[in-house]
Amino acid sequence: MKRTNTFEVRPRSESDEALLQGVIDATASFWNELTYACRQRFFDDESIWETDEFRGQYKGQLGAVGVQTVTRKNNAAWNSFFALLERGEDASPPGYWENTDDGRDLRVFVRNDSYEIQWGEYSRVEVPVGQDLKDKYNMGYFERLRLEVRGDPKWSGEQGELEIQYDEVEDTYRAYQPVTIDESELDSPLASEEAALDLGVNNLVACTTTTGEQYLYDGEELFEQFRATTEEIGRLKSKLPPEQDTSRQIRRLYRKRSRRRSHAQKALARDLVERLHDEGIATVYIGDLTGVMEPQPSPEINEKLNHFWAVTQFIDQLRSVCGEYGIQVQEKSETWTSQACPDCGEQAETVRHRETLACSCGLDGHADLTAAETLLRWNTDQQVRPMARPVRFQWDNYEWR
Ligand SMILES: [Zn+2]
Repeated sequence: MKRTNTFEVRPRSESDEALLQGVIDATASFWNELTYACRQRFFDDESIWETDEFRGQYKGQLGAVGVQTVTRKNNAAWNSFFALLERGEDASPPGYWENTDDGRDLRVFVRNDSYEIQWGEYSRVEVPVGQDLKDKYNMGYFERLRLEVRGDPKWSGEQGELEIQYDEVEDTYRAYQPVTIDESELDSPLASEEAALDLGVNNLVACTTTTGEQYLYDGEELFEQFRATTEEIGRLKSKLPPEQDTSRQIRRLYRKRSRRRSHAQKALARDLVERLHDEGIATVYIGDLTGVMEPQPSPEINEKLNHFWAVTQFIDQLRSVCGEYGIQVQEKSETWTSQACPDCGEQAETVRHRETLACSCGLDGHADLTAAETLLRWNTDQQVRPMARPVRFQWDNYEWR
């Protein structure tokens, strides 16, 4: 079974960064030249499987293995294309890695047997580069480009091909490492616990579990970024000539905005579900969305939910990751959970003020967490353990920390 470790990598110096960019640029040029040559042959009705002419050309930058890896990736793209054609489907031949509005498509592939990751206090990954680039950056013959790794591996097993992507929007390098793991690693021996989620916009997710864990995913930082981008879009729009309703720059900002959100959503779903899996959670209750607007349905919150956070898209994301981990998702009515006291059950006399919920029984809790806890207590047959101190996660443009 395959799983993917994702982590951030960072060059240790400006010179290392220039070197990494050199590898990335060479990979893109190589991919594009290869693709161009293949497309020419394809449109001339010739066989595309003769790409040896490029081997020498990029070896100095990518190394022999690097050249081979890009070639194989490119061949794989053509094979998929031909397979689609054979099935009579409408398909277009592999394309170029171009400058697009939302940033260039930039990445490096490293074959599974040619990189090494050392995990620990100073995690790092070493990747091979071609001799010409080594010479240019004064690296020794046996030296490799060494990058710092930020984040921990979630999975261990046989390592697959490493892919490092450069995100121009965030100016970060993200690494994706597929690993083949033992099936048995997926069986959680405890998997009988339950959790409930309260979804919102200030806190995107508040979660409580029957094991007594409480998590809060804070949406403030993301929303601030969203708001700033939206304002910038508005400013640019107001400057457009009357006959024009958009521009390249505006389209780029829209894409940047939605790309940032989907990255944060995917990362949140994965971070949360992996925590739940580790806790032995088998079932997750999600309040249906009518509850999100309680106690006062506000157009502003509604707008934020759909426009900023795209909450239904997030739920789909969450369902899919839960499915991957064998966790069942149940939507439950959430009406009143945000007003109810999880300790004594009082609903009418509680006082909700901003982030807190207070009850005459003495409860004074975080409103979103108490809502999640109430939803959990109302739906589970299990005993709920005393709640631990909540853990709050914030988005740092790369992961939830
Ligand atoms: Zn109470």
